[in-house]
Amino acid sequence: MQFFESYIERLGSDVVPPPEIILGSDGLETVARRISSLPAGTGVWIISDENTDTAFPLRAALSSLASSTTPASERRVAACSPLPGTPRVVPDDFLVERITCDVIAAKAGLVVAIGGGTISDIAKRVSYLAGVPNWCVATAPSVDAYTSAKSAIRVDGYHNGIPATPSSLVVCDVDVMAAAPQVLFLSGVGDLTAKYFAYLEWFIASLVTGEPYSEREASFALDSARRAVAAFQSLPSGARPDAAAARALGDAVLTSGLAMRAAGNSRPAASAEHTIAHFWEMAGVVGVESYDYHGLLVAIAAATVFPFYVGFFDQLRRGMPDPDRDVVEPYDHLSSLDRLVAPYRAKMIAETGGPVPLDERRRRVARFLASAESIIERAETLLPELETAIGALGAAGFPLTPASAGISAEAVTTSLRYVPYLRDRFGMFDLILYLGWEDRLGLPSPAGR
Ligand SMILES: [Zn+2]
Repeated sequence: MQFFESYIERLGSDVVPPPEIILGSDGLETVARRISSLPAGTGVWIISDENTDTAFPLRAALSSLASSTTPASERRVAACSPLPGTPRVVPDDFLVERITCDVIAAKAGLVVAIGGGTISDIAKRVSYLAGVPNWCVATAPSVDAYTSAKSAIRVDGYHNGIPATPSSLVVCDVDVMAAAPQVLFLSGVGDLTAKYFAYLEWFIASLVTGEPYSEREASFALDSARRAVAAFQSLPSGARPDAAAARALGDAVLTSGLAMRAAGNSRPAASAEHTIAHFWEMAGVVGVESYDYHGLLVAIAAATVFPFYVGFFDQLRRGMPDPDRDVVEPYDHLSSLDRLVAPYRAKMIAETGGPVPLDERRRRVARFLASAESIIERAETLLPELETAIGALGAAGFPLTPASAGISAEAVTTSLRYVPYLRDRFGMFDLILYLGWEDRLGLPSPAGR
């Protein structure tokens, strides 16, 4: 049994209806056959770009079902063109709205995404807005959102995880995935490194702020990452991923997406490293285009924040803080904003509002300390594992520094300063802010100071 199958079994009626997932060979034939057997006149709307149409020529295989010479009563595929391959598609609300209008005008009855995470996100959101189901044909194991119920869409230039219709059928052809550019494979493993932080931070947030927590979703997401990292490490040095490695990684990203869907949010999969990676993406500070992939940026952000997590727990081992004595007064982070974050002022206010008051900060630190033993125990298991995972990516010839992706020191500094404000998601950066530990951990001064 594949890992995602055992998870769906454990989910039972918690995810209804459960998606049909096919992880194997012959994806093209499978999807073509499924579409051919739909009722005539269904009107399948295919969303892909010119690059993926080469890797997965479903559109060409179905051309007879879309041809204007085919009688309307026999047609199953709506007349629609691929999105351009260059420049890369940006999943913003304008594009989503345009495609949604086209889908509605064509009276399409099914949306089929062919591609990576961006195409899947667009299709799930279009499906949600147009009120029609969607299928996803994933051509690269590059992100973990294929099976989730949210789409990452830019609204007013800001990254948002917004409601979407989960794909009722997800097809991952392991041979197509194995043939995808290696950078997409690394991106998938990179996205999964976030699960180690998530397992720690979601747990902390549940103890400190009372946020709902599910050990089932947290541990399935983490174990999916462990499996993918193990498969990645077992590849001979310098070897291209084969179908077996693609299957293992595909299994992991599918499981992680299901965990997000079951949790109702991305807590099982994303923490501070995602906040930072999303900020770099939307601020347009990634100077090297070949690195501008979600999972790669997540891995670089994970490697960037990793030493601060280690440092934080080192500080705790040296001596526990006193909530009444050691918690610092809040700064007015909106008083003078860093240049790169200034465009997101309104969004930050909507996301996190004003600073958390001193009394509440003290209560939160006290709650953290009351459970410090179990939190430290969890960190002591996870952080060494994460270091190994990051090291494995590095050993594959993937430089994990922001500079290698053309991200400036200014952009790194800004992202580290504003983690607590860019997203309403409690984590270790909030605790560092409450305790005023930036200087001792080597972090930039907090926003507003
Ligand atoms: Zn991600």
